[in-house]
Amino acid sequence: MKIVTQVKLMPEADHAAALRSTLRTVNDLACRVSEEAFARGVPREYELRKHTYPRLKAEGLGAQAAQHVIKKVRDAYTTLHANIRAGNLGKPKSKRRIKAESKPITFRPQAAQPYDDRCLSWQYDQQTVSIWTTAGRIKNVRFVCSADALKMLRQHRKGESDLIERDGVFCLIATCDVPEAETYEPDGFIGVDLGIVNIATTSTGYQAAGRGLNRYRKRQLALRAKLQKKRTKSAKRRLKERSRREQRHVKNTNHVIAKTIVTEAERTSSGISLEELKGIRQRVRLRKPQRVALHSWAFAQLGDFIVYKAKRAGVPLVFVDPAYTSQMCSQCRHIDKRNRVDQGLFICRGCGVVAHADRNASHNIAQRGETVWNAGRESRVPATP
Ligand SMILES: [Zn+2]
Repeated sequence: MKIVTQVKLMPEADHAAALRSTLRTVNDLACRVSEEAFARGVPREYELRKHTYPRLKAEGLGAQAAQHVIKKVRDAYTTLHANIRAGNLGKPKSKRRIKAESKPITFRPQAAQPYDDRCLSWQYDQQTVSIWTTAGRIKNVRFVCSADALKMLRQHRKGESDLIERDGVFCLIATCDVPEAETYEPDGFIGVDLGIVNIATTSTGYQAAGRGLNRYRKRQLALRAKLQKKRTKSAKRRLKERSRREQRHVKNTNHVIAKTIVTEAERTSSGISLEELKGIRQRVRLRKPQRVALHSWAFAQLGDFIVYKAKRAGVPLVFVDPAYTSQMCSQCRHIDKRNRVDQGLFICRGCGVVAHADRNASHNIAQRGETVWNAGRESRVPATP
């Protein structure tokens, strides 16, 4: 499975200048290749190369860099066309779509540039890279990342990396190809209920309270509102920094939660049952003070982390339909909206069982996971005559 790992470059001043001017140059040239592509009705990469490659070489790009620029442009059009086909830009006559179709794709001066192993080499022990620039190859450019990221790079980095500049900071985004472990036969399933108040509750008793995250988010929102009123350039920059810091905070929290759940599953040889995440925002009805709570992307990210960690560990994983999991009694399966007395309390109107609402839901999700897994297993076994 492919995952990406990001490192921050720590170039000396002259190296930073070389990297900056390289990105500017390749993206400027990409804009021109894009104009050419657009004028020619977006031909195939081979055809496009015929018309643009000599010019890129004449502008001082090496063979690899020139080809990467052409490929980047062609890929950008492929992505655009796929998005149009998928309806992501609206209907044929929509404003957005007309705007996207009526002019060439452009590239920001700091936009990502792909590098292959011939233009970029990694020295993990020294934590440096050697990288091609328009001012020649620069060596011993230090990079920093977490110990986990370094280990990942050392063991699994493969193929291309992207160089980007973000707020004056240069980063490399490397692709790692991580092998998946073989899935074992699960001994029961751990159900995971996702929610606003409790981010994750499992049927085995683990609960990640959202309190910390929600409080943090509330504080951030208050600060953001203050900054938004200012409308100055520095306020804008600080806003951006703030939202990045918040994203990092959520990401760390999600990593910890996902790790806890997957480790627990591994230790007990269980599978993991997750609710299908589509529309969590619709499902979780928010009272007013909770509107500041987590966005759907945070849950999607938690789901992604669980999937990724489960695959790496060989933990079986199933997705189940979350309908009525919060209204159904996990003991007698009686479904009633009124079973859920309030946010935290579940009292079954059928059998009278009293439970924590999220825990009850997580048991339902675990049971559905088991059912889904068994159904899949039966269909895998060839029918006996
Ligand atoms: Zn009941």
